Amino acid sequence: MESECLFCKIAAGQIPTEVVYEDDDVIAFKDIRPQAPVHVLVIPRKHIPAIAELADEDASLVGELVVTARKIAAAKGLTADGYRLVFNNGPGAGQDVYHVHLHLLGGRRFTWPPG
Ligand code: AMP
Ligand code: ZN
Repeated sequence: MESECLFCKIAAGQIPTEVVYEDDDVIAFKDIRPQAPVHVLVIPRKHIPAIAELADEDASLVGELVVTARKIAAAKGLTADGYRLVFNNGPGAGQDVYHVHLHLLGGRRFTWPPG
């Protein structure tokens, strides 16, 4: 746990959030500024600042983020219409919080390329 990290504090239960799912490795909660009818962030409890700083040994943990997002999407009825999963990595991609998080967005149509 990084004491100054917002998402470490959320994972530790120190900041109130609407938790959607949690287990020993990951926690998922509603984004405070939703960009779609469903906007959930799935994060590892382990503090990893960005995708660029992943270690090889983090591969299964990142896989858990994706599988968790898939389960949440299914539970919310998004499977048929589809949904978007996003990792913003670094300033050029608009990463604001430097604790790895997977955005799950659904419930509306998305365009490509992204903005
Ligand atoms: P990113 O730009 O990829 O770093 O995304 C960070 C996300 O965290 C944004 O979508 C924010 O709306 C979201 N966020 C920031 N603070 C909170 C919070 N306290 N609870 C839930 N989501 C948050
Ligand atoms: Zn953190």
